[in-house]
Order: sequence, then C-alpha cells, then structure tokens
Amino acid sequence: MRDRHFIWYLNDRLQTPQPERVRLQKRGVTTCCKSTRGEPRPVTDSHLQSCSTNRKIFHNTIRHELFKMCNAANLVVSVEKRGLVPGTRMKPADVYIDCWSADEGFSACAIDVVTTDAESNLTEHTQPSVRRQRENISGIQARSADQRKRRKKLEGLAGAPTMQESLQAREIKFVPFAVEGTGAFGPAVRPFIKQVSQEAKNNGSTCSASDFRRGWELRISMCIANGGCTAALDRVSKLWS
Ligand SMILES: [Zn+2]
Repeated sequence: MRDRHFIWYLNDRLQTPQPERVRLQKRGVTTCCKSTRGEPRPVTDSHLQSCSTNRKIFHNTIRHELFKMCNAANLVVSVEKRGLVPGTRMKPADVYIDCWSADEGFSACAIDVVTTDAESNLTEHTQPSVRRQRENISGIQARSADQRKRRKKLEGLAGAPTMQESLQAREIKFVPFAVEGTGAFGPAVRPFIKQVSQEAKNNGSTCSASDFRRGWELRISMCIANGGCTAALDRVSKLWS
C-alpha cells in the first residue's frame, strides 16, 4: 500500500479524509487558488482533485486516450482541427474523425472533451439538500455539461445557431464527451464508444465489437480515476513547497 495514487483513490471512494490533505492543514496550508471573485478557496479533498490549475492536464489526458481509441479503430483522426466553424477561430473538436459512416446524414465527427467534477458550482451558500444530492448521485454534472455544450451559441453572431447546429449543417456530428471526476460518463459517451467499436470491427479489427467496447470503456475509466489522483497529488506537492 505504498502507491500514493492508489491510496488517494481508495480514500476518495470510501469518503475518508485524505491523510495528505490533513498533513497539509496541520502545516497551516488551508487555502488553495482564488475563485473568480478573488476569494481564496479552502483546501478540501474534492477541491484538490478538481482545482482548475490542473484541469487542462486532466482534460488532455482524456483527449489523448480518446485519440488512441479512434486510432485503434483505424479511423482517420486528428486533434484540435482548425477551420471547422468558418469565420471563427473556434476549435470545437478536441478529436476529429474525418470519415464517419456510422450515422446517416453525417460524414465527419467532432468530439469535444469536457471534464467536470461532482461538486463544481457548489459554494458555502449551497443548500445542504443540493450538496447531498451531488455527493450521492453521480453523473449530474456530466449530464449538465453535455447539455451546456449542445446549447452553446456561436459567439459574436446575433441569433446565432448553436455549435451543434452549425456543425450539423456541414454534416459533422457533434459529440460532447463529458466525463466527471467521480468516473461518471455523460449521456453521449457510451453510445459513441459503441459506434467506434462497431467501426473498429468494420475496419478489420481482430477483436469483437463488444470486446473492443469493454476494453476501451475500462481504459477511459482508469484514465479518469488516475487523472483525478494525479491532479490532486500534484496540487498537494505544489501547496507543500
Ligand atoms: Zn485550487
């Protein structure tokens, strides 16, 4: 039991206080970064895992795993493709599949990775019932991140269509790949992995579509679990020094 990631993960699952965080607080480190309103955020177990200073690394780890999955399915993929929304610099596709035949009416697929945590947007004024709900039901934030991405309007244009509509008009399917720090997937994630698994089979993969799907769901889940622990431990050591 020396692996710090594993110990962090176990404490997180069991909801027992993280010894690393307790040691930090004993040393007098009680706040982390500042909120948008400039208030220092208290060092809590969940904050350490979701601190925005590490969110980019967490996001990119998932993006990389997703890229590898599409590659393993022999799909033509690229990362952060430019020029998908003409006239803007927006890059709605973290991962872009050039040739998509799994859905009728679409010829390409833009996947937007969005990471969230179960306690995001909670403040000290949040009602206890809302807080309990977030702690006990996993996936609420992943679902709302999915909706937010789908409804997002193109910036700077009056009466603008949503990102999803704009892409759809050019036969590009939009997939918000929302994952939550708890490990929960957003509603679009499993159906998408299932489609990719079928594509893998169609493209000559030697394993069955269901083996492909199970294997990659597991890899992505491990990636989320490990990514959360890495982010937290990285935060702990930065605050310690
Ligand atoms: Zn922080």
